Amino acid sequence: MAVAQGTCPSCGASIEFGVGSSIAKVCEYCRSTVVRSDRGLENLGRCAELVNTPSLIEVGDTGTLGGRPFRVMGRVQLNHGRGPWDEYYVSFDYGRSWGWLAYAQGQWYATSQVSGLAVPGYQELRPELDVPLGQQWFRVAEVKSGTIVSAEGELPEAFPAGFTRYYADCYAAGGGFATLDYGDGTKPYTVFIGYVFSESQLKVEQQGPRSIHKVKAASIKCANCGGDVPKLSGERATRVGCPYCGAVNDIALQQVVAQQERLMQQPLIPIGARGVFDGVEYITIASIRRGAMFGDDDDLEHFSWEEFLLWSEGIGYRWLVKDETSWMWVMPVNVAELDLSQAHAAVSWGGRSFAKRNAQDATVEYVLGEVYWKVELGDKVDVADYVNGTDVLSRESSDGEVIWSYSTQVPWPVLAQAFNLPLDSPAGKFDASSSSSSSDSSSGGGVWGTIALVVVLIACGACVGFLQDSDGGGGGVVGGSGVFTGGK
Ligand SMILES: [Zn+2]
Ligand SMILES: [Zn+2]
Repeated sequence: MAVAQGTCPSCGASIEFGVGSSIAKVCEYCRSTVVRSDRGLENLGRCAELVNTPSLIEVGDTGTLGGRPFRVMGRVQLNHGRGPWDEYYVSFDYGRSWGWLAYAQGQWYATSQVSGLAVPGYQELRPELDVPLGQQWFRVAEVKSGTIVSAEGELPEAFPAGFTRYYADCYAAGGGFATLDYGDGTKPYTVFIGYVFSESQLKVEQQGPRSIHKVKAASIKCANCGGDVPKLSGERATRVGCPYCGAVNDIALQQVVAQQERLMQQPLIPIGARGVFDGVEYITIASIRRGAMFGDDDDLEHFSWEEFLLWSEGIGYRWLVKDETSWMWVMPVNVAELDLSQAHAAVSWGGRSFAKRNAQDATVEYVLGEVYWKVELGDKVDVADYVNGTDVLSRESSDGEVIWSYSTQVPWPVLAQAFNLPLDSPAGKFDASSSSSSSDSSSGGGVWGTIALVVVLIACGACVGFLQDSDGGGGGVVGGSGVFTGGK
């Protein structure tokens, strides 16, 4: 049922607004942005074509979020300069309220506008600044801008083409989330408050019509070699390093964004390998090599390490990182739950103190498989490590953004068993020159010693072998289980 209707000033098609909070609508026939006012419907001009972004929800979908009914009314497509992402305008409770839903960095976010709150000026913002919003404290994690490049359906605001939005994303302890939206700087700011939620809370009960013909293929076609790269995390990845030719593809743009040599040997943990940790099954979806230069200016030494991105539908993303002495299990940490008051020397988290150990940078050198962010080769972040025993809290910062994570050692035999890899694999060998030995890690410290580790072996014969496939042009075969199968 429409709350308002009329005809498109550009093409004459019928325009209906489904909820009272909608101010504008992109005409589905001529793509003009039509704005409703006291004077009727006005045409703001044609909206650019949408890019076919991978996405889990679409305009017109209805369902529930944590039991609360919602309908996706519209979406905006934004871009930082590395290809678009979507934010969804959603009506809740059959039109009685509205908000935004977004999926980013492997997490879902829901926010609603809250008025009457004072915030700092955009120029004063920086990552880790504490901002009180009403009764709750939030901590800034990201200060950025994005350009609205396209839109679809109904919108709570009219965005002119090329509208740049300056914003800060903030977190609160316990999963709170807020966006401070400064618009293009010409109008008053808007505050959106909400929370981070897991995918299992979002249930799409009825799908709306798909506006762009979406081929929900089980694979991504490499724009360089035409190879079919299996999608291991569904519609969640944004970039993929092709196993057949090495090219890094942007999935939405269907373009190669970087060339790299094809990897000639299997990663230490094969892409597609599945392992069960603490009762949760993860699939290995990417292998990334990062590196840094160490030493004095005249005696610089290059050092690199391997990172493996794991994904599980109910949990999201985890990392396994192989450094010079051990394997580390890495999980994200909410920046708002850290005590950073003495961060020059130590940081407290979960009742434990972590002493500052070292600071360095880390540069992305190679990407194989699919990742959830707009990765580029050469991406560099500043890293500061804080330690408590063998556990590490790491702070990675770059371009107005900060990400914290917690790492704990996991013994190689545990990983080998979980992924069904040979115990004497090179993955279990560590740099012999290192002072601390790998025997530390096999003693079962950290959480691995205390939780009952359920290791279930997944038949993973299909994981090995795709790199040996000599036919680079998509000779790999997609298995029904979504793992690389490669061989005939
Ligand atoms: Zn029209
Ligand atoms: Zn390729």
